[in-house]
Amino acid sequence: MSGPVLFDAVLLDRDGTLVEDVPYNSDPDKVRPVPGARVALDRLRAAGLKLAVVTNQSGLARGLFTERQLHRVHRRIEALLGPFDCWQVCPHDDGDGCACRKPRPGLVHAAARALGTVPTRCALIGDIGRDVTAALAAGATGILVPTPVTRAEEVAAAPWVAADLPSAVAEILRRQASLSPAKPLPGAGSRAVATVCGGRHRGAGRRPHRTGGAVGFGG
Ligand SMILES: [Mg+2]
Ligand SMILES: [Zn+2]
Repeated sequence: MSGPVLFDAVLLDRDGTLVEDVPYNSDPDKVRPVPGARVALDRLRAAGLKLAVVTNQSGLARGLFTERQLHRVHRRIEALLGPFDCWQVCPHDDGDGCACRKPRPGLVHAAARALGTVPTRCALIGDIGRDVTAALAAGATGILVPTPVTRAEEVAAAPWVAADLPSAVAEILRRQASLSPAKPLPGAGSRAVATVCGGRHRGAGRRPHRTGGAVGFGG
């Protein structure tokens, strides 16, 4: 992608964000994507954004499932939702004092590095305050998509809240597109050209604003 971009990558929490939260799930047959997840992720892929999963899996530290079982669940998630460019898993528990368990920012730093970018050009979507805090602590943009178990104070504290995963993705793409005028598609017919003209006109009227980096959009 050429020209200014807000985001190179979107990082996604796993449980309660990409798939229904089945506590300590070790069974691939219990993987249930949230509504609209596949289409939303494919929109991000089509826009050239890299995708990573950033997930706390303390069930490993607690011996509730093995790494092999975890990988089987992740293979199932990719079978349903398409490939991710990177998986970042914290295998620790709260008492371990690691640098990767969210709300610490280690997974965000690791994902950005693995994807060849920096946290300030990453958006992280998650369902609880820990996800947003990890994003902000790394300098990334944090987007909260609450579920019925998300605490009200976490929703109130989040700088950016979306109703569901598809809406979060739509808003990421809208902000991303607002920085770059639409380019004509190769081989586009007359009908498509009219669409491109509309896009260019809209883009020209909207001044790119990059001050403060991605986090500046949190307010
Ligand atoms: Mg979650
Ligand atoms: Zn960890």
